[in-house]
Parts: sequence; structure tokens; C-alpha cells
Amino acid sequence: MNNPPLRFEGSHPCDRKKSQGWGTVHSGDIRQCFRCFRNLFTNLPCPILFAFFCGKGGKPRHSTMVPSLKTVTLGLLLLTPLAAPAQTHFNGAKALEYARQFVAIGPRWPTSPGHAQAEVFLRSQFKHDQLEEDNFTANTPIGPVPMRNFIVRFPGKKDGVIVLATHYETNYWLRKINFVGANDGGSTTGLLMAIADQLREQIANGKKLDGYSVWLVFDDGEESILPTWTDSDSTYGTRHLAAKWARDGTLGRIKAFILADMIGDKDLDIQRESQSTDWLVALVRQAAKKFGYERYFFQKDEAVSDDHLPFVKRGVPSIDVIDLDYGPNNSYHHTDKDTMDKISAHSLTIDGDVFLETIRLIDLR
Ligand SMILES: [Zn+2]
Repeated sequence: MNNPPLRFEGSHPCDRKKSQGWGTVHSGDIRQCFRCFRNLFTNLPCPILFAFFCGKGGKPRHSTMVPSLKTVTLGLLLLTPLAAPAQTHFNGAKALEYARQFVAIGPRWPTSPGHAQAEVFLRSQFKHDQLEEDNFTANTPIGPVPMRNFIVRFPGKKDGVIVLATHYETNYWLRKINFVGANDGGSTTGLLMAIADQLREQIANGKKLDGYSVWLVFDDGEESILPTWTDSDSTYGTRHLAAKWARDGTLGRIKAFILADMIGDKDLDIQRESQSTDWLVALVRQAAKKFGYERYFFQKDEAVSDDHLPFVKRGVPSIDVIDLDYGPNNSYHHTDKDTMDKISAHSLTIDGDVFLETIRLIDLR
């Protein structure tokens, strides 16, 4: 990707389930059973708890509440965390491990042996999934170059598609150095592989995802062939795919195109890419807020030329989730310093949590 010139919102419902059985088993005499008594207070919705203790006049609603019981109750409230149940997180360690295996291939610029190995890796990873290999020939400054996009489809119950995309290759023009693109191409390839594992579980035994279909796209030729990025020498895979999907009508089914790029960085600082669709930015922001990840997102605005633009230009709601600030003074970007020690499972956990929550929020729209 490239950065030319340059630009920018969430609820707290208390969602505990109502308890089952405490009233029926003990006929409401909750003083007889510590467990049921505790359940009463950990399972009631917040507004009811509030009313119970602080209701009109500050008096409890139940006349059975004796002073000693009140004392015990307050003690329990102090000891019992009323916070929501522990949040489950995306497995960023798994994503990191996938990235490690993929990046171990080494440089994978178009036409290189490493690129062929990367293709074998992706093919093997998704051999039991609905995998499409989208082969095409790119017209590049060095002549025609064979390229290949990989599309993995997870069917959903709702009519429409959410695309998650990343590029997987490395730069042709960096072929003389050992540029392995751990963050740039590698980290997000690992991320999408781990997301695929989760989606695969959800469609086991012929089931479908609850929301829209999710398609994972591993696109080729995002990087320019020559050192200077131009609109015609870059984003070969996504330009090809957007054109093809425009021709066959697929484009009209895409609800959102979400691009992941360079977000394995240990020092995660995802910018607000200014050509991205406002409502998608707002949903990503809302998803980040759910996990308390606000500080990692959208602290600065910047326009970035990247794989989302062919979709933006065709009117598809799109977002580039990218951290273009990589290393001191961006010194790791497109250098042989872009190695596995610069990326982390923690950053990939953040990414995965936010991507999956964003999908859920899009499904609810
Ligand atoms: Zn790059």
C-alpha cells in the first residue's frame, strides 16, 4: 500500500440471563441456600438489582429481608463481581503461528519459487473448504505476470456476502533483499487462516453461518512491481476481482469489503483510512469499544492507496484496516526488518476480536 495525501462513534446493556429455579426449588426462601441466594443477585438484570436495593425510599422491596440478611447481602455484593461473564477472545496465538509458518516460506514475489510455495500452502490450508483459485494474467511494467487470488467461502443464512481480504505476496522490487513481509502480507494471512478455523466450526455438519456468507480473499499482486507505486502498477488482484465480480453480478451481493493490512505490528496503531466507508468505520469503532480496544484504533486520519480502492470505486462499502506506522520512523516498512519478532499474538487477538464483532454487527444491520 501507499499513502498519498489525506480524515472520522457505541452501548452498555446488562445482558445477564435470568436465573432458573431458585424460586421454585426453595419457594422463595432464599435465606436457606447460599448458592441460590448468590444466584439471585448475580443473575438479576441490573435495573432490577438497582430497584431492589435503592428502590423508592431506598427500602428493599421484600419484607423478608431482615437486617442481618441485608448485611450479608451487601458483603456478597462486594465480594461477587457483577461484571459480565469473562469475555472470550479470538485466538491470536494461533493466527501468529499460522503467520510464522507462512512467513517461513521466505520472499514470495510474483514469479518466484516462494510464491509457488505460498500458493501450495494456501491450497493445502483450505483443501476441505469451498476454495476457488482465481487465476489471471496481470499486465505489468515487466510484461505479463501470472497471478492467483484465493477465495474461501463460508455460506450464511442471510442473502449477501461480507468479504475479508488480505494480500499474501511480497514485493517484486524487493526481490534482491530478504524481504519476508512478516507484518506486510504475512500477519494478515495468518489472521484470516485463524478466522477461517472459527468460521469452519460454525458451518460443521452442513450448517450455515447465522448471518451473511463470509468470503475470505487472499489476493495477489497488491504490491507494485516497480519501486514507485502507481494506480496502474499495484492492486492487480483486487482490480481483477472487482472487475470480474462487477461483470457477473457478484458485486451487488457484497455488503462489506473489509481489508486487513499490516496489523500484526506489536505497536498497534490502526489509522482511520479516509477513503473508507463511514458506517463501516463506525461499526469497527463500536466493535473495538466493546473490548476496550479504543486506544488502538483511529487515533489519526490518513488516506492510503490499498486493495480496498477497486471496491470503493465501484460503490461497495469498504474499509482498510491498516497500521502504516511500522517501526521507528516507519523504518521496518518494506525492509528486511519486517520480521516475525515485530508482530505479536496480542495484536492479532485485537484484530480477530474486532473483525468477528464487526461481522456480527453487519449481520444485525
Ligand atoms: Zn507493502
